[in-house]
Amino acid sequence: MFFIGVFGINNRSKKIKEVSFKCTGCLNKRGELVENSNVFEFFFIPIFKFSKKYILTCTKCGSMYRLNDSSVKKIIETEKVAYEDIEEVIYENRICECGEKIEKGYEYCPKCGRKL
Ligand SMILES: [Zn+2]
Ligand SMILES: [Zn+2]
Repeated sequence: MFFIGVFGINNRSKKIKEVSFKCTGCLNKRGELVENSNVFEFFFIPIFKFSKKYILTCTKCGSMYRLNDSSVKKIIETEKVAYEDIEEVIYENRICECGEKIEKGYEYCPKCGRKL
């Protein structure tokens, strides 16, 4: 948190709902839609929100994707995220079906040899 006197800017994230999403990192089909916003506060009372962002996190591997603002309404209604709704990949994990975490650049799992 960053304070100037009694004013403060606080970063908040709020889980909106679970959505269906086929993660590219692992083969999980569930994700969480999270609203991330900076809140301007006065004496710890939130005055307004700004720079709101919508983030999708995979419930299994923790990969994070930033979503298109224009797609958010549709996502909330349909509870589905398509690849076109993703604006950018913030962070991506890859997990093999055997549970091994895979570093970037590998084509085969170092543990079980499965092609990824
Ligand atoms: Zn995942
Ligand atoms: Zn494996």
